[in-house]
Amino acid sequence: MEVLILGSNSAAFAYGRHHTAQILKNDNKFFLIDCGEGTQIQMRRYKVKLSRIHAIFISHLHGDHYFGLTGLLNTMHLFGREAKLRLVGPPGLRDVVSLQLSMSRTSLSYPIEFTEWIPETEQLVYEDQKLTVTTIPLDHRIDCSGYFFIEKPKPIRISREAIPDQLSQAEAILLKKGEDVLNLDGSLKFKNEDVTLPPNPSYSYAYCSDTKYMPELAEKIKNTNLIYHESSFTEEMAERATSTFHSTARQAAQVAKDAKANGLLLGHFSSRYSTLDGFLTEAREIFEETELAIEGQTFKVV
Ligand SMILES: [Zn+2]
Ligand SMILES: [Zn+2]
Repeated sequence: MEVLILGSNSAAFAYGRHHTAQILKNDNKFFLIDCGEGTQIQMRRYKVKLSRIHAIFISHLHGDHYFGLTGLLNTMHLFGREAKLRLVGPPGLRDVVSLQLSMSRTSLSYPIEFTEWIPETEQLVYEDQKLTVTTIPLDHRIDCSGYFFIEKPKPIRISREAIPDQLSQAEAILLKKGEDVLNLDGSLKFKNEDVTLPPNPSYSYAYCSDTKYMPELAEKIKNTNLIYHESSFTEEMAERATSTFHSTARQAAQVAKDAKANGLLLGHFSSRYSTLDGFLTEAREIFEETELAIEGQTFKVV
């Protein structure tokens, strides 16, 4: 898995920084997470094909997280998309999108499958062969949820060195299931442990959108490989962060440290900051493996 940042600013555009949006790439599927105004322009800038987007996850209905959505849906329509699009978000998302489309008498060229989650509930909202996505209820001024992307356990690998030339497809399937392969007479042909290697590790990504500092969050996303956590402010604005249901860089770092994550991405920077160095310095005092979610950059989930 890897994450491409398309935007990571809060409230208003500032200093060349765009509203929140990012692409999680997993096994050739692209998942768009939040879709602030300008997202489709950012997608073009960073060469993300609209047709590759398989599902869209919206964290909440503040404009800086979804005002780019209807425009993007309409462009997909103009490009003649036919594949179903999964759209996951808070209650009301379907009404908002449907009203905008119906008022312009737009009948999309593709179907949308909506999933609206239940607020304040951890809920499975997406599943395919490779991963699951569950909601991470957050503490914000309106219903808001992060998303926890977790890869499913991967299959046993067949050793390239030990692999016998005459291995058939049926035999390979048996080995990947962890079974031995027998000859027709019932005698052992390949002992599983002799010709296989352990599965590759499964990775996870926790996208934590707008929220007040939630110490209990760490327990819910324990041992996550990579966490994205909002940090609208630095610590000297801690009171304002709390009163507006946002977090500081220090608080985001504390969550990552307590969760024993491998890495932290900071984002959702307030427009009042012209430079972002202060966020990084502050967070790294608590959690060294911190990076800024700078647009155009890709981060591997490891
Ligand atoms: Zn926001
Ligand atoms: Zn918000």
